Amino acid sequence: MTTQTHGFQTEVQQLLQLMIHSLYSNRDIFLRELISNAADAADKLRFKALENADLYEGDGDLKVRIKADKDKGTLTISDNGIGMTESEIVEHLGTIAKSGTKAFFQSLSGDAAKDSQLIGQFGVGFYSAFIVADTVEVHSRAAGAKEGVMWRSKGEGTFETGPSDKTSRGTDIVLFLKDDDKDFLESYKLEQVIHTYSDHIGVPVELYKEGKEEGEDGGFAPVNQGTALWTKSKSEVSDEEYVSFYQHLSHDFGEPLTWSHNKVEGKHEYTSLLYIPKNAPWDLYQRERQHGLKLYVKRVFIMDDAEVFLPQYLRFVKGLVDSADLPLNVSREILQDSKLTQSMKGAISKRILSMLEKLAKDKPEDYAGFWKNFGAVLKEGPAEDFANREAIAGLLRFNSTHHDDTEHLVSLDEYLERMPEGQDKIYYVVADSFNAARFSPHLEVLRKKGFEVLLLSERIDDWMMSHLTEYKGKPFASATRGELDIEATDEEKEAEKAIEGVLAKVKDSLGDKVSEVRFTHRLTDSPACVVTDEHGMSSQMAKLLASVGQ
Ligand code: ADP
Ligand code: MG
Repeated sequence: MTTQTHGFQTEVQQLLQLMIHSLYSNRDIFLRELISNAADAADKLRFKALENADLYEGDGDLKVRIKADKDKGTLTISDNGIGMTESEIVEHLGTIAKSGTKAFFQSLSGDAAKDSQLIGQFGVGFYSAFIVADTVEVHSRAAGAKEGVMWRSKGEGTFETGPSDKTSRGTDIVLFLKDDDKDFLESYKLEQVIHTYSDHIGVPVELYKEGKEEGEDGGFAPVNQGTALWTKSKSEVSDEEYVSFYQHLSHDFGEPLTWSHNKVEGKHEYTSLLYIPKNAPWDLYQRERQHGLKLYVKRVFIMDDAEVFLPQYLRFVKGLVDSADLPLNVSREILQDSKLTQSMKGAISKRILSMLEKLAKDKPEDYAGFWKNFGAVLKEGPAEDFANREAIAGLLRFNSTHHDDTEHLVSLDEYLERMPEGQDKIYYVVADSFNAARFSPHLEVLRKKGFEVLLLSERIDDWMMSHLTEYKGKPFASATRGELDIEATDEEKEAEKAIEGVLAKVKDSLGDKVSEVRFTHRLTDSPACVVTDEHGMSSQMAKLLASVGQ
């Protein structure tokens, strides 16, 4: 192995610049990221060793060790996990493999506070070491490999690789701390940060204690319990612990809105831990975005982003499942075709919907925040998840003629409660904007009758409504489609007779341009309006198709 200098991928250079400046106020996260990588390395080794136990090389006691050296000013994070070969180290610590990297950089605003949120969500990972270190040195020896490899960089444009004298399996990350960050050499500081982020990951984290007898444990003492949080019973876990586990899992700085932790027994046996985040990730609408749950089988980590467990419209949920029934060698392909995973997906979807129901009921303000961030995603639900259509509909929020403003939202249950005698449908109108919906001439007669109308104006609304037929036994009716079925008064019937001749003339002069000209009671102030056929395309849909050239 020769010593070589490599250039970082352009995106890495950009990320490094941004991160060092905008994340300084959250500098603690470097330790979370490095411990999380070390824990991942242990998980990966365990997984590979399922097929080849020799990879343990007689050392299956996987752990993370942290040691500060005050004389040298270094902090070292070591693991005895999977390690990296020379080519792996060049690839993993020289590029950003994540999809959507370009889109991510485009979404940055230049405002440090906002961008630091985004960068955190993007998962800064290993490179966050440069927030506190001016030089980072990595020594690694991959499981099964003979030679170790060294990586070194000042976090500017380049990094160096070469041989390393490391013989034990795993990876040491050595941080040469900047002068302002030497507080990370103090045990109390390290303990505090480790507790915050790493208390409940499934690998023990040990800290080197100065002055402690260098006995069998080499002067290291455990800081966390090394017990994966989801394997404990609910009563043993505090809210703070759930929150910090969420931060570990999601790499989010913030708190989740709510969570649900369940052990399911019976036909299938599994544990799920599901979180609803407070803030939307930057890439919620990116098509190639990874989503899904972390999958474990009998506590062994199997994969990230197992999307089979979550429908698309619940893609904002973070969490994990630990199955007792799936085989350890399960692949994405097997998961895709498995009846078991389909049934788990169904149960998990129901669980999430009921978490949201509970949130809406118990904490309406939090729910309003949820709706603002994720409502548009939930609106994909009725089309995707036919079985849970009604439950999803109950979670939807609408503008309506009741408040007649953009600020107040109503639920369908509130709508039903207010329904006056004589009304048997849920009326709605879909238009290009809130005001176009609100001032739609189609609403006049409904307003006159005192019937509330839902005012919809988002792109997805027309499509969503085409998948909703009724809620709690009451059918939905578009105010812009066909007959409204509202009983005419005698006075209106008289008026209708008087105008018959006029209708015939209008029809004659418009000819084939219209399918029908009819008298209506639906207008009170406007002279006429266009109505689409009961079964025809809605005018929104027609506009949408026209806009794509159909
Ligand atoms: P992520 O963890 O999201 O993949 P990181 O920037 O944290 O991104 O790490 C990049 C990659 O570097 C990891 O995916 C892994 O392949 C490799 N890596 C980092 N730290 C370690 C480690 N301690 N042991 C083995 N591989 C590591
Ligand atoms: Mg990482």
